[in-house]
Amino acid sequence: MKAVNGMLNANQNGFTVADKSRLRLRLSKLIFTDDFKQGRRVAIVLMTAAVYAVCAALLYFGAAKGMFDPMAKALAAVALTVATVFFLIIRSGFNLRFEHPSLALPQALCAQFVVVAGYAVLGAAHSAALALLAMVMVFGMFEMDTKRVWILLGCTLCLTVAIMLYCVAINPSVYDYRVELVHFIVMAAVLTSIASLSIQLGNLRQRMRRQKVELESAMEQLRNVATHDELTGLPNRRQMLTLLAEHIARHTRGGASFSIALADLDHFKTVNDQFGHRVGDDALRCFARQARTHLRSTDIAGRWGGEEFLLLLPESRAGDPNIGIERLRGALTVAQINPQAPHLRIAFSTGMTSYIDGESVDDLVERADKALYLAKSGGRNQTKIISGEQKV
Ligand code: GH3
Ligand code: MG
Ligand code: MG
Repeated sequence: MKAVNGMLNANQNGFTVADKSRLRLRLSKLIFTDDFKQGRRVAIVLMTAAVYAVCAALLYFGAAKGMFDPMAKALAAVALTVATVFFLIIRSGFNLRFEHPSLALPQALCAQFVVVAGYAVLGAAHSAALALLAMVMVFGMFEMDTKRVWILLGCTLCLTVAIMLYCVAINPSVYDYRVELVHFIVMAAVLTSIASLSIQLGNLRQRMRRQKVELESAMEQLRNVATHDELTGLPNRRQMLTLLAEHIARHTRGGASFSIALADLDHFKTVNDQFGHRVGDDALRCFARQARTHLRSTDIAGRWGGEEFLLLLPESRAGDPNIGIERLRGALTVAQINPQAPHLRIAFSTGMTSYIDGESVDDLVERADKALYLAKSGGRNQTKIISGEQKV
C-alpha cells in the first residue's frame, strides 16, 4: 500500500516521499555540514545573519526616507558584509583553526561595533540601538567563558561611552547629554547583569560537564564491578553466562561451533591450609594472569566460583586436545606465585565439551562438570573430554 502511495506521489509531482527526504537531507548537509558541532555554529551564525539583515533593511529604508543619517546606508552594507564573512569563515571550517572555534567573542565584538555605529547614525531613534547591545550580550551568554564575558562587557561599555561622547559633541540637539547619561547608567546596569548571569551560566555548564565525566566514569566502574571478578579481574560468572548465551545465539544463527572447559585447581585447600589465604589468593591471580597470556586470544577465561574457572573456547571441537589449555598447564609448572613460597606451584584439572545444537547452558556446563569429575578421579592435572555426541 505504501509503495502504491509512493508511486502515486511520484506520479503527481515527479518526486516520491523518499526522494524529498533525501533531497532535504542533502540540502541540510550542504548548509550545516556533517559535523554536529559545526552545524550548530552554522545555525547560530545564520540566526545572527538574519538579525543583521533585518537591521540592514531598517537602516537602508530609514536612510532612504530621510529618517537616519545618510551614512546608515553604508552601515547597512557593513552589517551585511560582517554577516557574510562570519558565515563563510564558519561554513568553510576556517574557524576550526582557532582555540575557540565558535568565534563567539570576535562575532560579538563586531556586532557591538556595528550597533554602536548604528547609535550614531540613527539620530532621534538612537535608543533602539541600546536594545541591540543587550541582545548581543545575551547571544554571547551561551558560548563564552568568564574571561571572554568580561572582555565583551568592558569593550561594549567603552565603545558606548565613546560613541555617546562623540554624538553629544557633534549633535547635542539630538543627543542631549542628560538623556545620554541616563542611557549609559541603565545600559551599564543591564549589561553588567547580563554578564553576571552569563558567568553563572558558564559555571553551571562547567559543573554539569564535570558531573557528566564523573557520572560516566562511575557508570564504567559499576559496569566493571557487575561483570568482573574483583580478585582476578576476569569476567565473573554472570558475565560468562551472558557470553555463553551470546555464543549459543550466534551458533544458532549458523555461526561456528564452540567448546567450553571447566578448570578446577588441584588440592587448592591444601595451598590455603599450608601457606595461608593470602597466598591462596595470589595463586588464583597467578592462574588468571597465565590464562590471559597462554590461552588463544579468542578464548575467554572467567571465574566461575571459588577455585573454578570456565574457559570459553570459540571455534574449537571437544574431540581435539586443546593446545591453549596444555600451554597454560605447562606455564603454571614454572610460574612463581609468591616469593614467600618460592617453590609453590599450582596445577588444575579440566573437563571439556562442545556445544550441542539446541541444548541449554545448564546442560552444556553439566557435561563439562562431568568431564571435570573424570579428570579429578583419573588422577588430576589433566584434561578429560566428553565430546558433544557422547552420551553421559
Ligand atoms: P580438588 O583437587 O578436589 O579440587 O581439591 P581442592 O582442595 O581444590 O577442592 P576443595 O573444594 O576441597 O577446596 C577448594 C578450596 O578453595 C576451599 C576454599 O577455601 C578455597 N577457596 C575458594 N575461593 C577462594 C578464594 O577466593 N581465595 C582463597 N584463598 N581460597 C579460596
Ligand atoms: Mg579444586
Ligand atoms: Mg572446586
